[in-house]
Amino acid sequence: MEILEEVKARVYKFGNKKADGNSTMKNLLGGKGANLAEMSAIGIPVPPGFTITTEVCTEYNLLGKDAVVDLIKAEVEASIANIESLMGTTFGDKENPLLVSVRSGARVSMPGMMDTVLNLGMNDEVVLGLAKKTNNELFAWDSYRRFIQMYGGVVLGMKPESKEDIDPFEEIIENLKEKRGINLDTEFSVQDLQDLVFDFKDVVRKKKGLIFPSDPWEQLWGAIIAVFNSWNGDRAIYYRNMNGYPADWGTAVNVQAMVYGNMGDNSGTGVCFTRDAGTGENVFNGEYLINAQGEDVVAGVRTPQQITKLGSQRWAELAKIEEDDRLENYPSLEELMPKMYKELNSYQDILEKHYRDMQDMEFTIQDGKLWILQTRNGKRTGAAMVKIAMDLLKEGMINEKEALLLIEPNKLDELLHPIFDPKALKRAHVIAQGLPASPGAATGKIVFFADEADKYKNSILVRIETSPEDLEGMNIAKGILTARGGMTSHAAVVARGMGKCCISGAGALKINYKTRTLTVGNHVYHEGDWISLNGSTGNIIEGKVATMEPELSGEFAEVMKLSDKYAKMKVRTNADSPNDAKVARSYGAQGIGLTRTEHMFFEVDRIKAMREMILADTVKGRKQALEDLLPMQRADFEGIFEAMEGYAVTIRLLDPPLHEFVPHQLATQKELAEEMHISLQAVKNKVAELEEFNPMLGHRGCRLGNTYPEITEMQTRAIIEAAINLKERGIICKPEIMVPLIGTVKEFEFQEQIIRTTANKIFEERNDKVEYLVGTMIEIPRATLLADQIAKKADFFSFGTNDLTQMTFGYSRDDAGKFLPIYIEKGILKDDPFEVLDQEGVGQLVNLGIERGRSIKPDLKVGVCGEHGGEPSSVEFFYNSGMDYVSCSPYRVPIARLVSAQAAIKSSL
Ligand code: ADP
Ligand code: MG
Ligand code: MG
Repeated sequence: MEILEEVKARVYKFGNKKADGNSTMKNLLGGKGANLAEMSAIGIPVPPGFTITTEVCTEYNLLGKDAVVDLIKAEVEASIANIESLMGTTFGDKENPLLVSVRSGARVSMPGMMDTVLNLGMNDEVVLGLAKKTNNELFAWDSYRRFIQMYGGVVLGMKPESKEDIDPFEEIIENLKEKRGINLDTEFSVQDLQDLVFDFKDVVRKKKGLIFPSDPWEQLWGAIIAVFNSWNGDRAIYYRNMNGYPADWGTAVNVQAMVYGNMGDNSGTGVCFTRDAGTGENVFNGEYLINAQGEDVVAGVRTPQQITKLGSQRWAELAKIEEDDRLENYPSLEELMPKMYKELNSYQDILEKHYRDMQDMEFTIQDGKLWILQTRNGKRTGAAMVKIAMDLLKEGMINEKEALLLIEPNKLDELLHPIFDPKALKRAHVIAQGLPASPGAATGKIVFFADEADKYKNSILVRIETSPEDLEGMNIAKGILTARGGMTSHAAVVARGMGKCCISGAGALKINYKTRTLTVGNHVYHEGDWISLNGSTGNIIEGKVATMEPELSGEFAEVMKLSDKYAKMKVRTNADSPNDAKVARSYGAQGIGLTRTEHMFFEVDRIKAMREMILADTVKGRKQALEDLLPMQRADFEGIFEAMEGYAVTIRLLDPPLHEFVPHQLATQKELAEEMHISLQAVKNKVAELEEFNPMLGHRGCRLGNTYPEITEMQTRAIIEAAINLKERGIICKPEIMVPLIGTVKEFEFQEQIIRTTANKIFEERNDKVEYLVGTMIEIPRATLLADQIAKKADFFSFGTNDLTQMTFGYSRDDAGKFLPIYIEKGILKDDPFEVLDQEGVGQLVNLGIERGRSIKPDLKVGVCGEHGGEPSSVEFFYNSGMDYVSCSPYRVPIARLVSAQAAIKSSL
């Protein structure tokens, strides 16, 4: 196997201001490992540890456990020895034990998707030694029971698999709490914790038939392998697929000395952000818990407290908590532990400046000493992403190019989603308030279970709290509402990552999963009832609230302006109506790359004339019907040209098979027969005659215009006359007439001939002229091969990558739904080629077509008008292949503008 030879080190150490790795090594060490190394090297206090590389995960998948343990055993043992010497403790020692955490960490962060085990190295003897050494029995036994619970779940596979299953450990905890009449884990006595340890081991024996492993080394190898396995767990796979991360990336494993946030009231743990991940505002913020460990803050079991005083006050205001109450029960870290706060504040500052991006950090305070456990570029909403990029630019931390590269193009989509209409909001009935965890406007019907999120077209997922199992449903729901959990709860973090509206910690909600009801005060809401969420204020609103289109303003407008400064490739839009054209222009479209004329024919008043044209048996009859259509088409074009004043507009001649236009139901067939004064049978015969086995490959595209030249004539006339009419009104327009579905040069020549003759005729009639181009779509593989010959005749090329994909793969787009999803799931295809351009195959044809075309006409204008014109990776490809423009739907225009700029910047780096 090749990689075996290449790999040098499989394990990288960090700690004590030194590290084998650094932050550029994310692919090898995973994001977490690379940043732990970097932090350690720049002097941030990080507990010492080591990272097993992602390549070892790949080796594990190929070779299995035994072979991989052999490969890394010596390195792992040496690295544990290194931690021991730095910490002055010994792994498995009965008096002075070292405990470690075993943490997963892929290239990109996948919050909560994979597994971590804390306090590893614990057993019946070690716990006694730890209790004695720290003089803290409560802490030692709390750590032990946590370890068994996590190890049982992650390594021994005892985590519940579905929502019906109960976590056996949680069940034991709940029973004990009930028996003891307590609410919180922190209220357990030493005896309780010892009972828990006993009962936990017992349930492992009963459920798994295993004696819980007491040998620390056995525990360590078990956990390392479990982390590797978690890369192929259901949750991780779903998350990977959702984000398009390949399965062969693998995860690294980080093993790190434990530091303890659960040692008492002088200890704690928390999560913080250098800026607001929801709005982008430049305020340090976060949450913490005293006397807690690991996931306690995110899990939303206890109400977390705010880190800064300002944050705490804002939070109290939303939660309607009086200042005295706040200070006594929920003080900020700033107020409670000013020294720790000051130190944390200085690290957040250092780290943000070092990484030159917003950071999301984890920390733990062990008995008055602060440790940083993780930092990463924080996930953020689209709005925050735009604001942070522009702010960092203004603060001089990054330059313009870096600011543009900091924005994920697809995230702009969120800023183009509807917002609540302010007028409707004024009348809205706010039933409760929670934390504004992720901004946006969501209206939908209540569902209580993630796997039922698809029950309604628009659903709002209402949960006490969410967990990683809920991911799929969260993705489907329009918005997420939780009764528990803070701004860093699972729901909040995941929702912000997805750009989904979320309100968390709405304590006034009583949720009953059994009866499927949500009670607020004395009002009961049921599954299926409408509610609305305002993720920016935390307001929960009864019923539906009207929404409206957002505007391109503020920092978003700045980003667009900056994009245009760097972009070389232009962005046009696909628009079939003056209104589409106007919307697209307001989003910065620089012309129209595709107007589909057939959409105009489907409107009620036109379809009739269209059908008459189709049913006509003679050229004369067809011409008659076409004459009725002419004024309508001309008016449409005038509207579009006017909306796009000053820019080029590409109009495609009639493309779909005629069969799509005729009535298929008896009633409508009868109607048509009456209107046309012909027999029903005649209509039926015609419909039958137009039927094709394979319409996508049938009588369509230029094959129509070549068999019925009068159609091309009429359409040309409508276009040219519209242009002249506008010229008379002083409006400049640049029509580009586009012939669809060319496979041979002659096909184009025939059409071009008709178009030019018709245009010249009109110029004579009107004694005036306009400039226009005649070009072609390149969408049949044969046309890419003969592009040089076609370029001799055509003024421009526009790649129709939908049809080109369809014909290159031989996949009927309309039938691909039956197999494409399975292909993607099985990894036969990486992406849906109709969404993401297949650069490897179809991309070759695109490049070939451009190359051959430009070999004849070096300045041949080339663009693309398929769906791919708005998909970021494809747009970048089109830039690199030398296109003059891409054309996409109006709402994708801002995204394509940004990608156009990013592609130009990247290629100049
Ligand atoms: P995730 O990627 O899901 O956040 P992590 O590996 O970061 O998982 O760990 C989960 C929790 O355990 C985090 O809160 C982290 O800070 C905490 N943790 C991990 N390692 C240690 C350690 N060595 N000492 C104390 N806490 C730790
Ligand atoms: Mg973490
Ligand atoms: Mg086509």
